Amino acid sequence: MENVDVLVAGAGIWGCTVARRLAEQGKRVLVWERRPVVGGNVRCETDPETGIEVHRYGSHIFHTHDDAAWNFVRRFVEFNGYQHKVLARHGDKTYFLPLGLALVNGFFNVNLTPAELPAFMADETRKKAIFDAFFRGYTSKQWGKPPEEIDSSIIKRVPVRASWDVNYFNDVRQGIPLTGYNSLFERMLDHPNIRVETSRALTLADLADFGKVYYSGPLDALFDYKFGHLPWRTLRFETETKDVADWQGTSVVNYVDAEVPYTRIHEFKHYHPEQKDVMACGKTVIMREYPATWKPGDEPYYPVDTAESRALVEKYREEAAKYPALVIGGRLGEYKYYDMDQSVSRALACCG
Ligand SMILES: Cc1cc2nc3c(=O)[nH]c(=O)nc-3n(C[C@H](O)[C@H](O)[C@H](O)COP(=O)(O)OP(=O)(O)OC[C@H]3O[C@@H](n4cnc5c(N)ncnc54)[C@H](O)[C@@H]3O)c2cc1C
Repeated sequence: MENVDVLVAGAGIWGCTVARRLAEQGKRVLVWERRPVVGGNVRCETDPETGIEVHRYGSHIFHTHDDAAWNFVRRFVEFNGYQHKVLARHGDKTYFLPLGLALVNGFFNVNLTPAELPAFMADETRKKAIFDAFFRGYTSKQWGKPPEEIDSSIIKRVPVRASWDVNYFNDVRQGIPLTGYNSLFERMLDHPNIRVETSRALTLADLADFGKVYYSGPLDALFDYKFGHLPWRTLRFETETKDVADWQGTSVVNYVDAEVPYTRIHEFKHYHPEQKDVMACGKTVIMREYPATWKPGDEPYYPVDTAESRALVEKYREEAAKYPALVIGGRLGEYKYYDMDQSVSRALACCG
């Protein structure tokens, strides 16, 4: 295509990072995005009634220990310093995650010190009690398996924090863009060398028109699912406006019991404590999150890592290698879960 050096197909955080980096290298970049708006799954909507920034595809908190990714996104937006904490509702009680002194002391009704925690939690009966209460039901809902099929060895991989620190992430750099996530994408794409066309999807037939194509849509979709569909877990969200200023007192509560059909409730106004007017508003927006088995046409959220899916990915990668002008990345293209900071650093790395 004339006047275009590179096509970037997919304007999620991976594609927007690629587009910006290449534009700054002097390339003329055309961006195609299948949806009518940019931002991918980090896209938000402002609730017209309350002004609350609703994370349309589930809560997104930027957190990182990667300087390159952090410095890159901060060129476009300032972050508000929000520090993420997650609560877990089990039975009729609420506990602080992750697995640390707050959870263990609260659950067993003890008062351990940091030095006492490791020995206390080395006991297999206690490990099992914590696993059954906080991990079995949640994991079975998340991955669609009966609780009996959830392997208790999961708990061995769950880090035990011997402190009262209830910060969910270990990353010092955390926050939500003060001007909202959408402004991050709009500013990244605001460059004289970038042209954006939305509601425009790349197909294999388009490849011949471009010297170089960076694609972050689903790997199998580009090849028209010729080897079959890659499996995903999907999510269904139910949003509700409540006539109270504060419904649950925090941004996310995990519902860990198998009997509760949803896994989490998000209350978005807590991501912006600096927005005094929004916080003071007598209403709030909550969103229940229900995991579900993916079927063609559903939004893909979490890749399902099995021997079969890995083999299928390999087949599609071999197919993709036949197109030397094609660079495939992002969570859908690589069929891999990446946090936003990882998506940014992987995108930066593939632009040289
Ligand atoms: C429920 C959930 C919560 C998460 N929370 C966090 C969090 O708190 N913190 C964090 O760091 N990360 C979080 N993540 C991860 C985060 O969503 C990803 O890192 C990010 O979305 C990856 O961006 P991407 O550009 O690879 O993919 P996407 O955001 O999916 O963007 C891909 C884009 O490509 C477009 N597209 C598809 N096919 C085509 C085509 N043929 N042509 C043109 N365009 C196409 C799509 O419409 C989409 O806009 C979460 C993920 C999930 C599932």
